[in-house]
Amino acid sequence: MVSSYRCVPLKFIYCVVILLFMTTSNLVAAPPEVSAARIGGDGTKTRFVLEISGSPAFRTFSLANPNRIVIDLDEVSWDIGPGGAVGKGLIKNYRYGLYTPGTSRIVLDLNSPVKIANSFVIKGKGGKPDRLVFDFEKTTQTIFTKGISSPVARAQAVNSARTPATTPSRGKKVIVIDPGHGGHDPGNLGGIKVNGISEKNVTMSASRNIKRILEASGRYKVILTRDRDIFLQLRERSLVAHRNNADLFISIHADAFRSPNVRGATIYTLTGKASDREAELLAARENKADVIAGVDLGDEQDIVQNILIDLVKQETMNLSNRFASELSKELKKAITVRKRSLRSAGFVVLKGIDVPSVLVEMGYLTNSTDARLLMQKETQDKIGRAILEAADNYFAQNFAFN
Ligand SMILES: [Zn+2]
Repeated sequence: MVSSYRCVPLKFIYCVVILLFMTTSNLVAAPPEVSAARIGGDGTKTRFVLEISGSPAFRTFSLANPNRIVIDLDEVSWDIGPGGAVGKGLIKNYRYGLYTPGTSRIVLDLNSPVKIANSFVIKGKGGKPDRLVFDFEKTTQTIFTKGISSPVARAQAVNSARTPATTPSRGKKVIVIDPGHGGHDPGNLGGIKVNGISEKNVTMSASRNIKRILEASGRYKVILTRDRDIFLQLRERSLVAHRNNADLFISIHADAFRSPNVRGATIYTLTGKASDREAELLAARENKADVIAGVDLGDEQDIVQNILIDLVKQETMNLSNRFASELSKELKKAITVRKRSLRSAGFVVLKGIDVPSVLVEMGYLTNSTDARLLMQKETQDKIGRAILEAADNYFAQNFAFN
């Protein structure tokens, strides 16, 4: 008894020391940095190498439809470009970024099914970074499909409560602004050639500015679905609006098109049937975000596609359309908009919530003028003020401020 009595405080002190040490070292230590990614080999054997300072723990799994290999690492920082790159050999292309706090993810889109023949770390000598090496070999679809397991992804999709609900400030309308893409989903890379930016960066920068302008009015409380370069599933984004009893949900994006001449903003609302072919294709691209990011939606995709749309009440859709037309009016005064600025399609991010929602494509990153303007504060201010005007008009029509 005596010895255990003496042990407890000692253990306690020991724990405190350890905790202090951990806290201090966490504050000081930056995450390992990936400084290069290289691919070598051909269509039968391909090697994927990451140069990395320090050796974070990693694990891999595979996903089908389309075939992908996912590599999850302890959180790392990236010093190898904007978030997506073209592959070689068995790898079609790859994307990388922060998946959840503490976990970074690389998704390899495959040209054919592969098996991971080997994965190992080569320690760097003389101050050189370590090399994390993955060797892939071509295999059959049957063998590839047999090896699929991704329990973590499924669990995270279901348990998607990353943003805690907050109580809205009294009298203020709550607007959720959703910066499209993020983490290992860079969005469209149409702006890379023009000014080296990916969609996820444009949407983040513009959204922060929109938040600032809306909140400066004193009439709105604004919640961002993400406030850093991190991945969020489409459904989690709309859930942020739902959980916070938002009055409006605005998803912010920037478009890409094969013709570099096309420019201007478009506002989209949700419908079962797309307003036109272009809107349908755009929705299909934006809806791919979860697939691109290596999330195994499994049956959930069917649920999102088939059931959630029924939950959106007609009234919510009417309100969405009303806000969209207010916003179209204001954006036309502020920036260049497409000729048909109001369109609709089946965007997953707008589905399944009881909050009036629109998706704004602010312009085209494949157009050099749009790409340049969209990263300028002046343009972002114009967009922010247009959203503020539109929100004021919309709420004045629909509700009295309380
Ligand atoms: Zn987008």
